Amino acid sequence: MTAPIPITVAYGDGIGPEIMKATLRVIEAAGAPLAIETIEVGEQVYKRGVETGMEHHAWDSLRRTKVFLKAPITTPQGGGYKSLNVTIRKALGLYANVRPCISYYPFVDTKHPVMDVVIVRENEEDLYAGIEHRQTDQVYQCLKLITRPGSEKIIRYAFEYARRHHRRKVTCLVKDNIMKLTDGLFHKVFDEIAAGYPEIEHETWIVDIGTAKLADTPEAFDVIVTPNLYGDVLSDVAAQIVGSVGLAGSANIGDQVAMFEAIHGSAPRLAGQNAANPSGLLLAAVMMLEHVGQTDVAARVHNAWLRTMEDGVHTPDVFKDGISREKVGTAEFADAVIERLGQMPRVLKPVSYPAMEPMALWRPNPESKKAVKDLLGVDMFLDWGPEAPDDLGDALRQVTAGPLRLRVITNRGVKVWPDGLPETFCTDHWRCRFMADEGQDLKPGHVAELLQNALAAGFEPIKTENLYLFDGVPGFSAVHG
Ligand code: NAD
Repeated sequence: MTAPIPITVAYGDGIGPEIMKATLRVIEAAGAPLAIETIEVGEQVYKRGVETGMEHHAWDSLRRTKVFLKAPITTPQGGGYKSLNVTIRKALGLYANVRPCISYYPFVDTKHPVMDVVIVRENEEDLYAGIEHRQTDQVYQCLKLITRPGSEKIIRYAFEYARRHHRRKVTCLVKDNIMKLTDGLFHKVFDEIAAGYPEIEHETWIVDIGTAKLADTPEAFDVIVTPNLYGDVLSDVAAQIVGSVGLAGSANIGDQVAMFEAIHGSAPRLAGQNAANPSGLLLAAVMMLEHVGQTDVAARVHNAWLRTMEDGVHTPDVFKDGISREKVGTAEFADAVIERLGQMPRVLKPVSYPAMEPMALWRPNPESKKAVKDLLGVDMFLDWGPEAPDDLGDALRQVTAGPLRLRVITNRGVKVWPDGLPETFCTDHWRCRFMADEGQDLKPGHVAELLQNALAAGFEPIKTENLYLFDGVPGFSAVHG
């Protein structure tokens, strides 16, 4: 007999306890040997003054079992509470958010009968690093961080997922026609990693037209991999158009720990009525069973669930006259799935989860060498005016340090000096690019000296960004206009 697998379970808030009880009953009846540790998360914990919504001993359980099945929680309104999901993702390095969006036509109403898309969203980086600043009276900034290891991890995961699940294609969605360095890196890494999976088709779309295409023709997609913000938007679009927000589960995967949950919230108005659909959490539990190597049990539960849906045994949220046969509550739906354990769907495609070797996930490449960096100049950002850009250019031309000379000034990325257009709207936030003359040796100390000289001349620098060549390739965007 297999030793029980330790997992951490949280019953959550609202409909959480009902759908968690239903889910655990099904997977236990299917024979999953689990050793469950129960923790409390969510509303009551927040209200006890724990701003993350989770206490120390609960974190200890997660770090011990490394597998978390979580029911939805209610985040109290107002009052500085931190999102538990964001905290868990960041603290435990859950870099991949995986959300299968599948239509169950003709048993669940949908505009897209043949949709079967898995969104693999990067979960830790991009604009979600939470590094924001107000820099001037008028201007606020949010830093978008895309890293090579972060991109390699998520893209490798997407291809490994595709290989394991016999998927034919991986699509990358980025906006690298505009963000050439950050999204450009994601695209480049995608092409590099795709080369190692010749049996899987790969393609890249610009995210705006790609999202429009997904909403219109989802059958053109299979696995999608994308940075955090696009993935956040896209995974909701995909879940909504498939017609079954209450039916989708998701996984948050890290190198050590993984978390599984339904994509919906705690639906407080439905709580305590035995009316919620437990399917989203149950399908998340199926992903969990596959993750812990209980592939036979995962397939038994998933196929019994498909058969239940086919038999028209539906909770009120998906019940439809003419399609459904029996309207049931949360507990009775779980009973119906348990009755069908061992049965296969007859119309929908049966699932199988072959036992496989662990995925070949990302490891640092010991061969990789650091690029040679050459400092060429600095972008100094000033809080100034707003007055005429030519006045700023004239005054700032007098500010120098070593070989650094003012070359160009932009406002919101548009060149305004020299030779700007009077029509260009300017704010009080100026990017002033200083470069060393060709052949002149620029030292980091010159940047510090430039800041001091700017201060002495009465300017207020709010930040600087060094301009480097990396192995001879510019590591900064060019100024156009
Ligand atoms: P929600 O997903 O809870 O509800 C949206 C709609 O879908 C409601 O009409 C609800 O009745 C219905 N619904 C949701 N799940 C259902 C199910 N399983 N069966 C039948 N119908 C279902 O979204 P919301 O109302 O915006 O949020 C409620 C609370 O949930 C908020 O406090 C929010 O912060 C929290 N939330 C938590 C998570 C999470 O824990 N991962 C995710 C989203 C929202």
